[in-house]
Amino acid sequence: VEARTPVPRQNLRVPGPTPVPPDVLEAQAAPMINHRGPEFSAIMKRVTPRLEYFFQTRSRVLTYPASGTGGQECAVVNVFSPGDHVVSIIIGNFGTRLAKIAEAYGVKVSRIEFAWGEFADPAVVEARLKELAPYKGVMMTHNETSTGVTNDIQTLAALVRRLSPDALIVVDAVSSLSSLPLEMDPWDLDVVFTGSQKGWMIPPGIMMIAASERAWQAHKTSKMPRFYWDWSSTLKQLESSWQHPTTPPVSLFYALDVALDKMLDEGREAIFARHVRAGEYVRGRAQAMGLELLAKDARYASNTVTAIRAPEGIETKALLKKLHDQDQIVLADGQDHMKGKMFRIGHLGYFTDADLQQAMDAVERHLKELGYRA
Ligand code: PLP
Repeated sequence: VEARTPVPRQNLRVPGPTPVPPDVLEAQAAPMINHRGPEFSAIMKRVTPRLEYFFQTRSRVLTYPASGTGGQECAVVNVFSPGDHVVSIIIGNFGTRLAKIAEAYGVKVSRIEFAWGEFADPAVVEARLKELAPYKGVMMTHNETSTGVTNDIQTLAALVRRLSPDALIVVDAVSSLSSLPLEMDPWDLDVVFTGSQKGWMIPPGIMMIAASERAWQAHKTSKMPRFYWDWSSTLKQLESSWQHPTTPPVSLFYALDVALDKMLDEGREAIFARHVRAGEYVRGRAQAMGLELLAKDARYASNTVTAIRAPEGIETKALLKKLHDQDQIVLADGQDHMKGKMFRIGHLGYFTDADLQQAMDAVERHLKELGYRA
């Protein structure tokens, strides 16, 4: 085998995984404990209500060892049944994935699809929903990480509720929850899920999900085959012992416990404000360089990830390589059909103004070297 080399210190500016603060990294190095013992239960008892504070819900937040895609699958299998008609509002790659997962489980999915860079226009959604009724649920992405666009979930949810009061509103909040305002109960959302490697300042591996009373009722009658993702067994174990039915990623919970302390110290609204400033800064720098954002309407540009079109004649790959090799700055390429045609800068979770400035200064310098003239 090749010799092991140390993991480099980078300015990791992909939209997840995100950098982890030193004290959170350190917390993970604590000795292993029994996941059926009192020490682990004590952690869960501290972590769970604080997650609920960030979800803004009175429902229990359940956690699973999984990535964000696990959250998508967990949502689908717990509330729908094979043959159900469900509407998917899609503005990019992750909306498409959620629709495909539902189809893989036999759900009949109708797509309301927007071009990459667009937000889900409530007027268009309303007209289409009227044509598509009846439906059991509507699935939507809060922050589309592939395009750097944030949907107006509050407005979309309100219109679904007005048109179809019993429809289940499923929201993918993987790259937004804790960084951007999302109010599960006040907005009457039914299923909301997120992933630890985004705004939570800890490594990948914990998926968090909450369900409204309406979603729990649907869960009881859902005929979807499931075992690992079953909410009932997860809730039962949490309520009886503050534990999980399977083995949890114990060290990640050490990290989450400390990260939540830090998040509460900073304050929920202060975290939101820091992400607004980050989004405005990165977009401002991009526009000052004459670059084009993928987000067509600045009002819906994401404050956790900025997607920028590669200038004419410049290969994203060459730019990302220079940033990586010369500056230890790591940005993300485009996904799917936009690979090589755009790049994405993550600004969520743990970052400083200096991190963002260093990244944007380097982007400007390397683009010039690659021949870009604004
Ligand atoms: N949904 C959204 C909005 C995402 O940003 C991501 C990942 O970037 C996912 C789902 C899938 O998450 P994962 O890659 O952790 O499975």
